[in-house]
Amino acid sequence: MATERTDVDGVSVPTGHFIGGEHIPSETTFETRCPFDWDWKLADIARGTAATAHKAVTAAAEAFPIWSGYSVRDRAGCLNRLADLIEENKDDIATVECLDMAMLLESLKLRLVPRGALNFRNYADIIEAHEERVWSSKGTTNTVIRMPAGPAVIITPWNAPFMLSTWKVAPALASGNTVILKPAEWSPLSAAKLSDLINEAGFPKGTFNIVQGYGHDLGAALVADPRVKRLSFTGSPETARKIGHAAAENIVPFTAELGGKGPLMVFEDCDLEAAAKKAAGQFDDSGQVCLAGTRLLVQNGIMAPFLEKFHAFTDTHVMGDSRDSATTMTAMIHPEHFARVAGFVDRARANGDEIVRGGKVHKEGCLWYEPTLIRPKGNDSEVVQNEIFGPVLTIQGFDSEEEGIALANSTNYGLSGIVYTSSAERAERVGRAVRSGIVWVNCFLIRDLTAPFGGIGESGIGREGGDYALDFHADLKTLQIFEGSVS
Ligand code: NAD
Repeated sequence: MATERTDVDGVSVPTGHFIGGEHIPSETTFETRCPFDWDWKLADIARGTAATAHKAVTAAAEAFPIWSGYSVRDRAGCLNRLADLIEENKDDIATVECLDMAMLLESLKLRLVPRGALNFRNYADIIEAHEERVWSSKGTTNTVIRMPAGPAVIITPWNAPFMLSTWKVAPALASGNTVILKPAEWSPLSAAKLSDLINEAGFPKGTFNIVQGYGHDLGAALVADPRVKRLSFTGSPETARKIGHAAAENIVPFTAELGGKGPLMVFEDCDLEAAAKKAAGQFDDSGQVCLAGTRLLVQNGIMAPFLEKFHAFTDTHVMGDSRDSATTMTAMIHPEHFARVAGFVDRARANGDEIVRGGKVHKEGCLWYEPTLIRPKGNDSEVVQNEIFGPVLTIQGFDSEEEGIALANSTNYGLSGIVYTSSAERAERVGRAVRSGIVWVNCFLIRDLTAPFGGIGESGIGREGGDYALDFHADLKTLQIFEGSVS
């Protein structure tokens, strides 16, 4: 039997599931380790089963009539209190996520955990400001009503788990749906820490449940439960296909934010320094970012000076303890993932792709892979077409804008694109021509939370952010009343 709490570097973390407002231990557990010091076992965490899934969905189904009956003001009050509590506990959440996933502590404290709080605050504001659409037509008054749908299962990946899960949980709760969150098994600790704050925020018991464990048993049982009315997933296309089957079986709306293979386009007229720095910055989290610009597409006329600057910036990367402010490049999450990434490079070498830099482990036994740049033999090389999710970029040259756009659009993915140019006309033209859910011009990773977010093709189905996520979580109804019959 797992102890109910454990100490992770001075932070007390619950190790069980959080169901119906209670922390529940489990007889079986799984361990989580620190990527930048793999010998350091951080915690044994409850490992859920199909029975855990059933219990959590029951709690969420029983809480649904209560939570969906809350007024918008009361719902917003709970969301805002949770945001306050996240801010108050920012340092603890950042510490456990830093140790669990190796994200930089500073970035977690300054950016990602506050952004998690903002997700709840933002949706509190949106539901309070929402006005139903009402119009008159054909002698009737039409009103569009968002009805809460029921329990929502939210399944999240191991990268940036706190921020990613809160941006999915917040709109579900704001809609009046109850939630069962299953974080990924490689980084369970920040969700465990979040479970400490839910009762204090005032949510009725069973409104927001968190279960821990693996995807193939616990996750599969959650998504197959017919009492679940929404499935919201972030992760790989392989898992999305499985969850999509469960969604089809129960005819349940399903949204999937999946992988990416974003182009980072560098045009001759751009600020070369800024573009090269941003390109080298794609190694920051060891490339474990779905939105990363991993295919460098550089106009041939500036290839040599671009590479010179890119190498200079890449040389400045510091691999080390993620709590240390000097560290810029984090370790990879897990030895299995490390081996998967190294496998891509080994196959590229065998394929005759040119390894321009890197292509090896940083130091034997550690989870850092050297920042790697590959010039592929052709556009059909595996390293160009498949998501690697590691510190491995490809570089390809192009002459005309049309050629660059064709390369940018030449994979099955379409999550994000980055364009460096100083021409406003080109920014508009290329920005519109690149087929992806978001295109950043002369910037990266800035996003207004009310803007739509999602992918095209293998990068996903559906959109999150602002009203888009609220529409997904609601059963939309048109109420049409004949004007002549109402006195
Ligand atoms: P994954 O698909 O292996 O796992 C994601 C989650 O699904 C985990 O919680 C896992 O336990 C669960 N799962 C696995 N099998 C399941 C099943 N049969 N039923 C239900 N749940 C199941 O992905 P990962 O390796 O954790 O994450 C990396 C992937 O996520 C990359 O492809 C990355 O690009 C993508 N990602 C996308 C975004 C985005 O916003 N588009 C953000 C972050 C990560």
